[in-house]
Amino acid sequence: MKKFAIFCLVSVVSFSTYAQTFNSFYSTILENTSQTNILNDLTTFESFGIKNVGSTRLTDTETWITSRYQNLGYTDVVLQPFSYSAGTSNNIIVTKTGTVYPNTYLIIDGHYDTINGAGTNDNGSGTVLILELARLLKDINTEYSIKFIHFSGEEDGLIGSNYYVNNTVIPQDLDIKLVLNIDEVGGLAGTNNNTIVCERDLSSPSSNNAASNAFTNDLATLIELYTNLNTEISNAYASDYIPFENNGEIITGLYEKNETPYAHTANDLLVNMDVPYLYEVTKGTIGAALEFAVAYETLSLEEASNLDHLIRISPNPSDNFLTISFSKPLDQVVDFKIIDMLGKQVYKSTLREQTQNIAIDNLVAAHYLGVFKINNKRLIKKLIIE
Ligand SMILES: [Zn+2]
Repeated sequence: MKKFAIFCLVSVVSFSTYAQTFNSFYSTILENTSQTNILNDLTTFESFGIKNVGSTRLTDTETWITSRYQNLGYTDVVLQPFSYSAGTSNNIIVTKTGTVYPNTYLIIDGHYDTINGAGTNDNGSGTVLILELARLLKDINTEYSIKFIHFSGEEDGLIGSNYYVNNTVIPQDLDIKLVLNIDEVGGLAGTNNNTIVCERDLSSPSSNNAASNAFTNDLATLIELYTNLNTEISNAYASDYIPFENNGEIITGLYEKNETPYAHTANDLLVNMDVPYLYEVTKGTIGAALEFAVAYETLSLEEASNLDHLIRISPNPSDNFLTISFSKPLDQVVDFKIIDMLGKQVYKSTLREQTQNIAIDNLVAAHYLGVFKINNKRLIKKLIIE
């Protein structure tokens, strides 16, 4: 969808509003990214042919994507049908529920329809990137919920993403942390593909632009942390993040630096792409997704039991204050937060002492979660305030 838009390069350096640091747990996950999977999935995607809305080639592709999620063990896989002059098609929406903020979503999206050709780069590249991301995140706990969305009707004018925003986001007042759009990230064969463009929101409404700028800078920093790629910051345009941006959501996106001349032609094929480049982009996106969804290590039963004994909350139920104590002196600070049953954070502090009192008289009587963060691990305890 990008061919006819003006590509405006705003800045050639990446910077960050706050430092993103290398996370060894995240690194271990993204090092399992498989270039073979990416290659195989691109080959399969290409084999379906031209995926225009109204064609059985597109519905075959839809069936393939859907079954991939089901085979990975995802259970919340929803097809959202919509119709327009070209025919009826489906957005594919897969939800992974977060443990701390189940009602707040990181949306990672890319379109799977194509025009004039097989679209192996535009947007087979984004499609298989998201599939690989979903494979690696399947059994990883994340504080925030994630929606992997494969939109259709993009090439006819962002039809599927517009439909989703108007028929799901707005009526459900969906709480979206960030929309990360992946469109055409396959690189150009025969060129040095060493840079990925990170796209920020510079358009109206402007209320969401500063947050988009900050997330885009973080995205660039994270990609440089976890891959051998350089990054550039540019502006978002002409892809599925735009209906979200128009609705005031915070968006960011990825787009190849060496723009293929074959998009929307019969030559948008694997042979004209750079698979090792897409592999690097995929790794970087996984690092960013882990950071943005706040992934954490799952405790073994023994670790959970040890931590449970280490941390004591009293009284519980409580009313005006909580005492949090550790059964031995802390050798590091512990981040603590209280989350209400709607998944909203209502209290946050850093614990430094072996025993501390926390005033909670401003919290309404209800059940809450107390979340302790120690390194990459979490201990979640139920709290009752009366
Ligand atoms: Zn595209």
